[in-house]
Amino acid sequence: MRLSRYFLPVLKENPAEAQIVSHRLMLRAGMIKQSSAGIYSWLPLGYKVLKNIEKIVHEEQVKAGHIPMLMPTLQSADLWRESGRYDDYGQEMLRIKDRHDRDMLYGPTNEELITDIFRSHVNSYKDLPLTLYHIQWKFRDEVRPRFGVMRGREFLMKDGYNFDLTKEDALHAYNRHLVTYLRTYERMGLQAIPMRADGGPIGGDYTHEFLVLAETGESEVFYDSEITDLKFGSRDIDFDSVEECQAVLEEFTSRYARTDETHDEAVFNEVPEERRRTARGIEVGQIFYFGTKYSEAMNATVVDNEGNKVPVHMGSHGIGVSRLLGAIIEASHDENGIIWPEGVTPFHCGIVNLKQGDAEADAACDALYKSLTALGLEPLYDDRNERAGGKFATMDLIGLPWRITVGPRGLKNGVVELTSRRTGESEELPPEQAVEKIA
Ligand code: ATP
Ligand code: MG
Ligand code: MG
Ligand code: MG
Repeated sequence: MRLSRYFLPVLKENPAEAQIVSHRLMLRAGMIKQSSAGIYSWLPLGYKVLKNIEKIVHEEQVKAGHIPMLMPTLQSADLWRESGRYDDYGQEMLRIKDRHDRDMLYGPTNEELITDIFRSHVNSYKDLPLTLYHIQWKFRDEVRPRFGVMRGREFLMKDGYNFDLTKEDALHAYNRHLVTYLRTYERMGLQAIPMRADGGPIGGDYTHEFLVLAETGESEVFYDSEITDLKFGSRDIDFDSVEECQAVLEEFTSRYARTDETHDEAVFNEVPEERRRTARGIEVGQIFYFGTKYSEAMNATVVDNEGNKVPVHMGSHGIGVSRLLGAIIEASHDENGIIWPEGVTPFHCGIVNLKQGDAEADAACDALYKSLTALGLEPLYDDRNERAGGKFATMDLIGLPWRITVGPRGLKNGVVELTSRRTGESEELPPEQAVEKIA
């Protein structure tokens, strides 16, 4: 992409309404624009990152055998009356009437809708286990939408639902989700710690929230510092193996790590004092096992191998896809701007032409652009007629992992400058070598 033809409306000034750094940087980098409280347009740069995050989420779900689909944003109130949640959900639910005076709502989550789909089509234990998921916009009329996409009213969520014959099978699904979530967040350059959470209105003992530690997080968390040494890494896992998935759950949840809702001072005090940590965190996901709560209320049953009709065991599992942009930036930035982890970066590298219009510099930039593109990489070429300082500031702000700086002086010696956004280190090298380093 050539910057002169792109739409990147960066802001010079710090927007007054932004209280936290991720919100400020997303606005300044021209990634989002608020359309009304807690509702945003995703401008091209923000949209690109959102899509990259979505892609990682999809890939990790599919690897575990979970099946993507898409449910609508608008739902009929009738299903929610069946589960009893139409009245329980309260003011966070946006309720709408259609022209026939039917009660509709903009889905804040999808347990009812998916259970209805399940019961319409599945009748036998032979069709289990089944895990379906989608990535779709949700609406929650939050009392205090704030911090940009972090607490929006309209936000993008991945929500998955497992249907199993027994509690054991459903807990395997729970563990499988834990594994996929660990991998998903790590691929985005994030450490998200599973912490024991409160079942809330959905109930159930089995629920973990995934938290990214950050001062601006809205949750208070308590944990054993040893947990921050754990990495899932690139290990292979057989998602069908109950033991393997269970072992990961045990490894990642055996140390003390809880949110304020489930925090227990007495148990916490058993952790050696030098390892006890109190901090703040951003909730980027949550997994639940809730048994037969919805299947009983909505009559989602299967016939088991003895011919009995039994309600299925279910769980639901959410990832805050749009909130993740904020969480990643909170975890990865400096005073000059965003520092994108390689896994989600909107462009792989920036090319800065120090002397636009200079035949040699222009040709060198074009050649770099071609060879990067040929390798399947996506560069952002700043070909505008601007001062070098302004170009560097823009590149730093939008946070691409690499910058290649091209100017007549370097070209005389056959070199360009390659700069890492994260370390700030630069080196001069021939253009081909710069390309190799990025690839
Ligand atoms: P919170 O405690 O932050 O209100 P939640 O527990 O109500 O979140 P869940 O129902 O667990 O949210 O939804 C799954 C995920 O969706 C959350 O872990 C979070 O990452 C994301 N999410 C929830 N509410 C919002 C929101 N208002 N804006 C952006 N993302 C959200
Ligand atoms: Mg909430
Ligand atoms: Mg929560
Ligand atoms: Mg939650």
